[in-house]
Amino acid sequence: MTTTQAPVQATFESLDPRTGAVVGTYPVHTAADVEAAVTRAADAATWWAELGFDGRRALLVQWRRALVKGLDALARIVVEETGKPFDDARLELVLAIDHLDWAAKHAEKVLGRRKVSSGLLMANQAATLTYAPLGVVGVIGPWNYPVFTPMGSIAYALAAGNAVVFKPSELTPGVGVALADSLAEIVGGRPVLQVVTGSGETGAALCRAAGVSKIAFTGSTATGKRVMATCAETLTPVLIECGGKDPLIVDADADLEAAADAAVWGGMSNAGQTCVGVERVYVLDSVAQEFTDKVVAKANALTAGAEFGPMTMASQTEVVRRHVADALEKGGTAVVGGADSAATGFVKPVVILDVPEDSTAVTEETFGPLLVVNRVPDVDEAVRRANATGYGLGATVFSKARGAEIAARLRCGMVSVNSVISFAGIPALPFGGVGDSGFGRIHGEDGLREFTRPQAVARQRFALPIAVTSFRRTSAGMGALLGLVRVLRGR
Ligand code: NDP
Repeated sequence: MTTTQAPVQATFESLDPRTGAVVGTYPVHTAADVEAAVTRAADAATWWAELGFDGRRALLVQWRRALVKGLDALARIVVEETGKPFDDARLELVLAIDHLDWAAKHAEKVLGRRKVSSGLLMANQAATLTYAPLGVVGVIGPWNYPVFTPMGSIAYALAAGNAVVFKPSELTPGVGVALADSLAEIVGGRPVLQVVTGSGETGAALCRAAGVSKIAFTGSTATGKRVMATCAETLTPVLIECGGKDPLIVDADADLEAAADAAVWGGMSNAGQTCVGVERVYVLDSVAQEFTDKVVAKANALTAGAEFGPMTMASQTEVVRRHVADALEKGGTAVVGGADSAATGFVKPVVILDVPEDSTAVTEETFGPLLVVNRVPDVDEAVRRANATGYGLGATVFSKARGAEIAARLRCGMVSVNSVISFAGIPALPFGGVGDSGFGRIHGEDGLREFTRPQAVARQRFALPIAVTSFRRTSAGMGALLGLVRVLRGR
């Protein structure tokens, strides 16, 4: 199959969720296979780190070019494995490629050796800071954006000088293999990026494998907790990117046409299977009717299987069905779709108004084309409700006058003001959440630093006349130091 994969044993099939057709067969990599991949990666990591920032940038830029060249072919694999529309797959790739470019070009500036001030008391020292690669980074990814999401870790980890062993979701192994193969061609087959395939057990083996310096996990909160527990066994640090229940706030002065468009795209594109998708809308009473009418018209114009695909993971249909049922049982009013919209894997758009805040449709991640639209008397109430779930990934605010002010009050990692999900496409902005949405950051300067260990070096340039860190210390010397501190810091 590929030079970047470990030896073959049992196999599993990757299916097209639109038809159930088999689109690929992949090995179930065992713990021994994963260990072997990590051992190979450790060697590659040394070579890769020694290339330095310039060497790595040149190769990563070549990879970027190759990905652009092969964009349509890779997008077709994404379509086959996820069922999403071709242009959605292409958009995902465009964004991933842009992140790769940014990471490659900014790694040296962000991570390169730099001098820092040693301060007045330590003026005899030269202080430098380096962000060194960790070695081998294990990346565990989900299926909903099988290129964009893992590349948020892979591209940044590679640019920082690490080798990567990537475990894609068992629903999207082909995309992972294609990504690794494309980089292998550029680095002469060196195992800088390897893919191990299989189920959750293969992912757990990656968490346990000796020699993995960090795990970057993206997936559900429940699995994130399991990953963290496994990593605790070996004190392996983790970056955890989990789900969300992202709110969208519509202020009284908002551009309602744009807000409705954003709500419907943010909630229903990719069939709602977006970690930073819009799941809850809080709209001010004064504009609720006009906004809702626009949302209803836009959502009614969508067809499952046309503008968006099926549930990629069949079992998700039942989750959506349960959330819709709960919202309706608790008193919500369906204005688009309803109880039978999630009858098959092609879940139809659903918009439900006035859903009690204790409904699972408000408290749990739905990951389907369901929008809850609740009216609120004022922005304070919108903010209060937006912040009331355990999740804290992204958020959207539509307001002409108060966008930044409302954004600052939201307990989450990212906010888009007057557009939706834009933060994810800006490589310089860190991406990640708080609470049940996880911790740590991909993308941006923080995303590069996640995959490094800061190393502080203090080099003595000359000895001080007063020795205070020696058994030669005298009370006169300490008196002089304290006198200096009283003058410098005592005021
Ligand atoms: P899962 O949590 O089911 O799986 C994520 C990955 O973890 C998969 O590769 C999975 O393998 C693997 N895995 C499963 N069990 C274990 C284990 N015990 N140890 C190690 N790895 C394991 O998530 P989904 O794939 O269903 O993805 C959807 C979720 O991802 C949603 O909650 C979504 O919000 C979230 N997400 C978060 C993003 C973010 O950046 N915050 C971005 C995109 C999605 P396998 O599939 O083979 O079981």
